Amino acid sequence: MNTETLYESLRKLQEPKGYFFNRDRALVFELLEGLLANKDRHGYMGCPCRLASGDREQDKDIICPCVYREPDVAEFGSCYCNLYVSREWNEDAIPHAYVPERRPPEKCPF
Ligand code: SF4
Repeated sequence: MNTETLYESLRKLQEPKGYFFNRDRALVFELLEGLLANKDRHGYMGCPCRLASGDREQDKDIICPCVYREPDVAEFGSCYCNLYVSREWNEDAIPHAYVPERRPPEKCPF
């Protein structure tokens, strides 16, 4: 799958749920390329801004969209990577706060 196809299919799937791609398309494409690279490397689309262990079971919480996206977008308007954001975040109606890592340290492999 190429990046453009992934972009369109995820957009159609996620926008109705209230999750929008960051309006910075260059950043989004970079992150989507990271997702595709992780899929090639590990067989699953691990979060592009976290280190994957290579073990799907260990990483199931960070297979994109990760389990942390919902609370992060609810609290900060953005996921940890700034890939998925709320409409308000994209429209600058809320501040673009730093999103801290919500994944428990014991789950991080390195
Ligand atoms: S932080 Fe964002 S990009 Fe990373 S897995 Fe979660 S939803 Fe995907």
